[in-house]
Amino acid sequence: MKRIITVLGTRPEVIKLAPVIKELERRPHMFESIVLATGQHDELLKQTLEVFKVIPDHALKVMRRNQALASLTSRIIQDIDKALKKYRPDAILVQGDTTTVMAASLAAFYNRITIGHVEAGLRTKDKYQPFPEEINRRLTDQLADFAFAPTEAARKNLLRAGVPKRKIFITGNTVIDALLQVSSFDKRETIPEIPPLQERMILITAHRRENFGKPFLNVFNTLLDLSRDLKDVSFVYPVHPNPNVFKMAHEILSGRPNIHLIKPVNYIDFIWLMRRAHIIVTDSGGVQEEGPSLHKPLVILRDKTERPEVVKAGGAILVGSSKNRIRQAVLRLMTDKDFYRQMANIPNPYGDGTASVKIVNILEEHYGHYH
Ligand code: UDP
Repeated sequence: MKRIITVLGTRPEVIKLAPVIKELERRPHMFESIVLATGQHDELLKQTLEVFKVIPDHALKVMRRNQALASLTSRIIQDIDKALKKYRPDAILVQGDTTTVMAASLAAFYNRITIGHVEAGLRTKDKYQPFPEEINRRLTDQLADFAFAPTEAARKNLLRAGVPKRKIFITGNTVIDALLQVSSFDKRETIPEIPPLQERMILITAHRRENFGKPFLNVFNTLLDLSRDLKDVSFVYPVHPNPNVFKMAHEILSGRPNIHLIKPVNYIDFIWLMRRAHIIVTDSGGVQEEGPSLHKPLVILRDKTERPEVVKAGGAILVGSSKNRIRQAVLRLMTDKDFYRQMANIPNPYGDGTASVKIVNILEEHYGHYH
């Protein structure tokens, strides 16, 4: 029996690791699954754990108000180090590119514990975009013993970074597993917080650190203008609780009859909102992978993306925070039906919902054969 600690700290990590945790739990003859939550996002983490009915075995409380990255990082390393000494796992699993991922991997390395990195190999090749995630994932990929790459492009990035071939496995992205699992228990028909919506709705999410300040000022003012031009369209925006986003979004966008600023919704409701949306305007990572599965064109509020597959396939347009580019993309999608249809109907480059089974099969085979 191998003891695996899955470490998670934020909403997307729960969404993308829940299917892996469930798969480990399905094989109790082989694995003992322990879930460790760092609490890097407190409220959003709780909301998402509830949806997937994942109950952490060990919870850290690493968040402090307005905490600097250095302090968050060192706290996570120290607290995870203690947990690893207590549980002595055979391996840890981390997902993505948060500070939790990088710090947990470093703590595991110090304890000579095997590391599996889910969603390895994503790159923008710009160390500050996204910040600090690009560096978090590069470091984690160097530390990992298993690099679970979602796509061929991610595998190539890993090879270019010097990660040995034998450590790299293409699995697809576990977000598709999560999306399919949650869609099967998706019964929601309305969100209590919002009034009946117009026939066409634009869904918005925005929270990236590198967009704080002037970029968000541009984005929010452009959305305000668009809401005046498109009076028969509803705009729904679950606002991220980070004060750098929350304050400016409310100052600029509240009070318009067709803009609905709501609290972050749980994953079941968010999938309902994505399905209900005509297009999605976002700077989120995960939403770029979910959009093509749900046939929703994406307008991406970033200059660079580590998910080039969806842009290359024609399902997303990169617009950064430029007023003209955001306006052009949104207005074209709202008026040009052929363009819309083309963007909505691309094959999903991120997998088919079997990534978590593949990942656990790889671990099982490894431990079955070598130990
Ligand atoms: N999401 C959610 N509720 C919301 C907004 C987003 O459940 O109100 C989901 C979304 O479907 C995606 C994930 O959260 O799977 C993305 O999280 P986030 O944008 O925080 O992080 P990123 O993907 O950019 O790392």
